Amino acid sequence: MSEEKSLNFIEEIIEEDLKNGKYKNILTRFPPEPNGYLHIGHAKSICLNFGLGLKYGGQTNLRFDDTNPVKEDTEYVDSIKEDVKWLGFNWANEYYASDYFDQLYDFALQLIKKGLAYVDDSSAEEIAALKGTPTEPGKDSPYRSRSIEENISLFEEMKAGKYKDGEKVLRAKIDMAATNMHMRDPLLYRIKHAHHHRTGDAWCIYPMYDFAHGQSDSIENITHSICTLEFIPHRELYDWLIEKLEIFPTKQYEFARLNMTYTVMSKRRLLQLVEEGHVSAWDDPRMPTISAMRRRGFTPESLRNFCEKIGVAKRENMIDFSLLEFCVREDLNKSALRAMAVLDPLKLIITNYPDGQTEELISENGPDEAYGTRTVPFSKELWIEQEDFMEVPAKKWFRFAPGAMVRLKSAYILRCDDFVKDANGKVTEIKCTYFPESKSGSDTSGLSVKGTIHWVSAQHAAQAEIRLYDRLFNVENPSSEEGDFKDYINPNSLQVIPNAYIEPSLKTAAIGTRYQFLRKGYFCLDKDTTADKLVFNRTVTLKDAFVKK
Ligand code: ATP
Ligand code: MG
Repeated sequence: MSEEKSLNFIEEIIEEDLKNGKYKNILTRFPPEPNGYLHIGHAKSICLNFGLGLKYGGQTNLRFDDTNPVKEDTEYVDSIKEDVKWLGFNWANEYYASDYFDQLYDFALQLIKKGLAYVDDSSAEEIAALKGTPTEPGKDSPYRSRSIEENISLFEEMKAGKYKDGEKVLRAKIDMAATNMHMRDPLLYRIKHAHHHRTGDAWCIYPMYDFAHGQSDSIENITHSICTLEFIPHRELYDWLIEKLEIFPTKQYEFARLNMTYTVMSKRRLLQLVEEGHVSAWDDPRMPTISAMRRRGFTPESLRNFCEKIGVAKRENMIDFSLLEFCVREDLNKSALRAMAVLDPLKLIITNYPDGQTEELISENGPDEAYGTRTVPFSKELWIEQEDFMEVPAKKWFRFAPGAMVRLKSAYILRCDDFVKDANGKVTEIKCTYFPESKSGSDTSGLSVKGTIHWVSAQHAAQAEIRLYDRLFNVENPSSEEGDFKDYINPNSLQVIPNAYIEPSLKTAAIGTRYQFLRKGYFCLDKDTTADKLVFNRTVTLKDAFVKK
């Protein structure tokens, strides 16, 4: 990365606007619909909107775009607030589009009074049939020429609950022959007798996205309303409504949404994964949601760095999941506490170590001296990884094999003398000799070895369940494959190790503390931990072990 990052196109626009004195201060907003948990794509939008506010001494509002009563819920509102805060951002104001329902209703009446909106009794099918196609103009609805008075009273009756869902809609009166289909008398209001998470049963008509969104931006005096590319065709309507209502002229700018490999990124699909039990919850650590990433041990810094690295583009592209993992690793390498855990245990017995003796060995706690040290108990019987012993060593094998010498991290050099196999030929135990004068920190043995491995003392070890994660999908872009995206779920995306051995200091691990289990990756305590059972998630491996399938 270069030191001086060039401006992205939105920053260029803002700098120009500030230079010309168009605005003294900028005000952006992040406008989630509270119909699901936020995903990494939303993190991109959060970092962009809040980042611009911070960079240019302006502010950012958090606005819940809650105009669709059926799918929205306060559970989602709470999770969204938690996620934004966790990412490290503070909103200037917490607003709800539903707070503006009175004002929006008033705006609609103004349009009717200007002859710019009408009540249409047509069904959704009838409206669609007259809509035309991109190459053919639409046709006027038979209700298009209703008088202003009639429209006012019908709209009031709609609000008063006189009609059933779908019986009438309010439409803008623009141009049924417009090249932009969104300008062919778009819907402004629909009837929906549904309970709203904030306004309860006060309303039975709800504004459509296009009517609520831009007007909310304008009510809040948002200077730069940033959204994703699919809203480009909506911009003409956005501007038309603001112009006709003669309200604060917010401007809409569009950037490319974030797409990432081996996952799906739409709340609708994520909801399916949760509801159909393909994952345990919205925050299942395999999900691309912010809450899942937090639970898995990703840091807010790493997510912000990731969003910074991918930049702000005007064309859609696909970002490799490995880049996100790279950012996580980069951050954890600087900050995670070091500890030892054995995931696939093999017993090691030190034949010349006194029975019943224990030593408290000193080991570094973190990546540098500032983190200090901790003690790790050492005794005659230890656990090491199965994979650190080879009966018939490969070339350049620096770990245990018959006769081979290896250093145990922060402990001693040991020589493997013998091993024991069970009836199936599996090695169940190795027997070693240790060299007392080779103790780490005061080694006078003169021995030199190439391999250092991790271990835990069998007598002192605690046990933990360890969950290892892989990609949730087997293909790069499950949404674009033939058939259902769920056909491409990776059946091995979760591997549970029920009884790993961990060093005793980890018994007091806290949620939110990140560890590097030496040679095994980065881990954190999971919220499923109970008084009797510790559960750790692997956040990410130490190196990019992923190979494209
Ligand atoms: P989804 O399609 O996943 O359901 P959405 O766009 O409907 O998402 P909203 O709650 O409406 O979700 O989004 C809030 C903000 O986040 C919007 O400004 C939207 O443009 C932005 N956003 C959503 N998905 C992405 C993404 N993948 N990349 C960047 N920004 C996104
Ligand atoms: Mg949306």
